[in-house]
Amino acid sequence: MPTTYKLPCEKFKGIKTPFYYYDTRLLQDTIDAVKEEIQNRNGYHVHYAVKACAHPDVLRLIQEAGLGADCVSGGEIQASLDAGFPGDRIVYAGVGKSDWEIELGLQAGIRYFNVESVAELEVINEIAAEMDLMARVSFRINPDVGAHTHANITTGLAENKFGIAMDQMETVIRKAQEMTHTTFVGLHFHIGSQILEMDDFIALAHRINELQDRLEAQGIGPVQHINVGGGLGIDYAQPNENPIPNFKAYFEAYEKYLKLRPGQELHFELGRAIVGQCGSLITKCLYVKQTEHKQFAIVDAGMTDLIRPALYNARHCIENLVSKEEVQTYDVVGPICESSDVFAYDCLLPATKRGDLLAIRSAGAYGQIMASQYNCRPLPAGYLDKDL
Ligand SMILES: *Cc1c(COP(=O)(O)O)cnc(C)c1O
Repeated sequence: MPTTYKLPCEKFKGIKTPFYYYDTRLLQDTIDAVKEEIQNRNGYHVHYAVKACAHPDVLRLIQEAGLGADCVSGGEIQASLDAGFPGDRIVYAGVGKSDWEIELGLQAGIRYFNVESVAELEVINEIAAEMDLMARVSFRINPDVGAHTHANITTGLAENKFGIAMDQMETVIRKAQEMTHTTFVGLHFHIGSQILEMDDFIALAHRINELQDRLEAQGIGPVQHINVGGGLGIDYAQPNENPIPNFKAYFEAYEKYLKLRPGQELHFELGRAIVGQCGSLITKCLYVKQTEHKQFAIVDAGMTDLIRPALYNARHCIENLVSKEEVQTYDVVGPICESSDVFAYDCLLPATKRGDLLAIRSAGAYGQIMASQYNCRPLPAGYLDKDL
């Protein structure tokens, strides 16, 4: 590994815990790794999935690096505009777009709406007509491709709520082409998240090839762009060894298996892979509690600050930032009144005592943004290196 990204532990002293820390050097290096892969490939565009982390400074940095923004709500469109993303670098998906969100997207001149139902298409056409604008629409197709990941984060199976069924594809496209205020511009897919098996992306590529052939046989297309969504995973077990995901393998899989038509653009929507490893949740040990069977390290962060362990059974690497004692075994738990408020079972940590700072690693994606105020807790702050 060429570089290490050390946490500036000294600078954490005196800051109210729990809080999120974002390493912008790692974020920049991650973005550079993405850009290196797409620069040599024609027509590749990456939109950062804002829902992974919408910290304004993180968004600004990604915007300045030239990536686009993939939004799933009006609030995210607004956050992207505030961070300086021009409308034509914003794309917008979501099964339940409200009228005001569609209006905001149209006003901002977003690149396209990823439309998920006929009902939504009709409303977009109506609102665009009222505003005397043309809406660029792309259809999110449910490819019925499974992903080897947690059931709560697969999205591309026929049973999921997302997208339009493949057998309706031609009907909705023709409908959009006949409408007065929509322009059909592409196809969109997204099969899930935290995917580490390239075979899942390859299966999607094969499915898209079939669908493109089918459309062209019926005189539709080739469509202007194909959007394959996001989903590339990160190494939660070894954040120090693998700070930057294997973008090479990811983009190569699509390059090799997806048959792009001449002039066709290929869009990606990566969230976790871009911001996941650069963020850590910094927390303080409040108490160590021994019971007959267990030793608990009770920390001041809880599932309200980082819900992934409770929601997805996710396991994050935890480090004690100060202790150099012999290793012991702990269940690391939060203060919330829920039994699922556990960050780790049987975690090996150097002997930990009250006041020690701990880092819950790989928390940059779906961390701070999913925080809640359950138990009337304050929301955790987020700091970049420059803030400390
Ligand atoms: C969540 C989401 C993404 C990003 O997923 P990651 O796993 O974070 O890369 C991309 N596209 C859509 C439509 C999404 O809902």
